[in-house]
Amino acid sequence: MISYKIKNNKNINLKIGKLVCLARTYKKHAEEMKSEIPKEPLIFFKPASSVIFNGDSIQIPKMSKCVHHEVELAVIIGKKCKNVLKKDAMNYVFGYAVALDITARDIQNNLKNKGWPWGIAKGFDTFAPISEVVLKENVPNPQNLDISLKLNGKIKQSSNTNNMIFSIEEIIEYISKIMTLEKGDLIMTGTPEGVGEIKRGDVIKAELKGFCFLEVDVT
Ligand code: MG
Repeated sequence: MISYKIKNNKNINLKIGKLVCLARTYKKHAEEMKSEIPKEPLIFFKPASSVIFNGDSIQIPKMSKCVHHEVELAVIIGKKCKNVLKKDAMNYVFGYAVALDITARDIQNNLKNKGWPWGIAKGFDTFAPISEVVLKENVPNPQNLDISLKLNGKIKQSSNTNNMIFSIEEIIEYISKIMTLEKGDLIMTGTPEGVGEIKRGDVIKAELKGFCFLEVDVT
């Protein structure tokens, strides 16, 4: 199992658990995908084996001809919980990171069209780059963070976490009704509009402005 990198702290060793991901949590992204806006959080998973860090490379898999970037706020769980109420949810948060939910869009669309599960489109090795984790106490309002992604120096995605359809508290309440959230689990909270294709040789920079920064390239 691999461990998180914690910003300005080498003493904490937190192993990466399951990656629970949300789809369509920003209205404008649902619209650009011509997808219905869900009434409840829409959930899928990525394997922890897909995680890479700052300075690593996203590998375009042979099976895909169209891989997309999606920049997301990641919430890292610090304490085991189940059936958490919204009002208590933040007690279980350890910290935040900026993450990329890399997606083989052609594979996803093919599977979606057949009505089949499309999880594999999200689960290739290197498809979950994550930044260093900033501790919760250092982020005064996680629901008001500028989130952005630059591809080869050009801004492609730029939004604020205040545009999320569901709050972090609502998301934790919902997921923990279904499954136990454990210390080290990570929630990718969905991407804002502006997703697009990445190719070999590209450089991606993503940030939660003032808090987390991530740079990876594509091979
Ligand atoms: Mg996503």
